[in-house]
Amino acid sequence: MAHLKPVRGTHDLLPEDMRQHRAVIDTARKIVRLYGFEEIATPIFESTEVFHRTLGDTSDVVTKEMYSFEDRNGDFLTLRPENTAGVARCFMSEGLAQKVPLKYFYAGPMFRRERPQKGRLRQFHQIGIELLGVASPAADVDVIAAGHRALRSLGIIDKTVLELNSLGDRESRNAYRDALIDYFTPHKNSLSDDGRARLQRNPLRILDSKDKADRELAAEAPVLSDYLNEGSRNFFRNVQDGLMRIGIDFKINTRLVRGLDYYGQTTFEFVTDALGAQGTVLAGGRYDGLIELMGGAPTPGVGWAAGVERLAMLIDKYKEDCPVFAIIPMGQKAADRAHMLAEELRDDGLVVDLAYAGNVSRRMKRANRIGASAALILGDEELARNVVQIRDMKTGHQSETSLDAVIIGLDHFR
Ligand code: ATP
Ligand code: MG
Repeated sequence: MAHLKPVRGTHDLLPEDMRQHRAVIDTARKIVRLYGFEEIATPIFESTEVFHRTLGDTSDVVTKEMYSFEDRNGDFLTLRPENTAGVARCFMSEGLAQKVPLKYFYAGPMFRRERPQKGRLRQFHQIGIELLGVASPAADVDVIAAGHRALRSLGIIDKTVLELNSLGDRESRNAYRDALIDYFTPHKNSLSDDGRARLQRNPLRILDSKDKADRELAAEAPVLSDYLNEGSRNFFRNVQDGLMRIGIDFKINTRLVRGLDYYGQTTFEFVTDALGAQGTVLAGGRYDGLIELMGGAPTPGVGWAAGVERLAMLIDKYKEDCPVFAIIPMGQKAADRAHMLAEELRDDGLVVDLAYAGNVSRRMKRANRIGASAALILGDEELARNVVQIRDMKTGHQSETSLDAVIIGLDHFR
């Protein structure tokens, strides 16, 4: 039955998946806090306008990937494909301009109608940070450093390379844009349909095309670095110097343009070759024009977003570090007492799984399956003597402890 499967490109996250996700999100949240970022959450859907205005009419996301629908009252709404536009909208509607600089962290689901592949889903999850209100290259350095440290803390920095580029300021981009139009126009007929549309509206985006013919042509195109004006070159130099000062390695990739229109100056991606074609795990850049695009006063910004699924595939199997205890009662009286014991242990902050039914061997199997450190076996005979058997699930060693001192008996498992 088709309707009993998850929708194409969406996944159920079972506990073992969720543990990996949580490890990624919790680690990132903790790390970016060291840089002063605080968590916010914006709604999962916004007015379609929020994304149309900001992501750009020629971006893949806007042209073919958005889940948009008309609400019953005629409003056009879209499930967020990314969160920077939502943060910018929040910045405007909450009147946050007075409070800059602002440092926000977010985590949550995003939605894009892409062709599902490994590491490419229709509902996926991102973590990200945004730093609003700082024009200095020091902000770019700090934001990249936070991403770098998060990947380091996840144990995967060695699997990634930081690629860095500058898109320059608007003047530089306009000069480059003209150069690209001059270059691509004679080859117009070799471009994909998308490529041709981009040539009209935003030729830079051709460089980000996934079409083979577009990519081949793009390989010979003029490079942006030759068109940076002095201010943009200085800015980029400062970002690079700042990164070197704190020991962050990077590789300049002059072809690195980001998929969304609001980026300018610094762009960067942490890429890996451990995930096949879906190699970008954390990506971002500077977006000084974004708030203006939304109709606000010019406000500089810089940030990144990372794909939780892709990061979760790269990290080691995450193990829960708090021990789990299984209580296995045998007999009705023992079962009643077991419930009280479970609550007593939970009062002390222990994770306790109560075996409700089944014979002893099935209950022991379950204790094994849930990864219990110890099983507490309580039969009517033990109850009569006010004791409980504590079985070390690793060694099989069993010892008896007074029911009044169980917590002490469990001490060395903690
Ligand atoms: P790509 O070139 O891989 O499509 P993108 O430029 O569209 O990436 P961004 O919009 O920059 O990606 O999103 C930031 C990160 O979010 C990506 O680097 C990736 O890790 C993750 N991501 C983006 N789209 C998806 C998706 N459909 N499924 C899973 N993760 C995704
Ligand atoms: Mg994409």
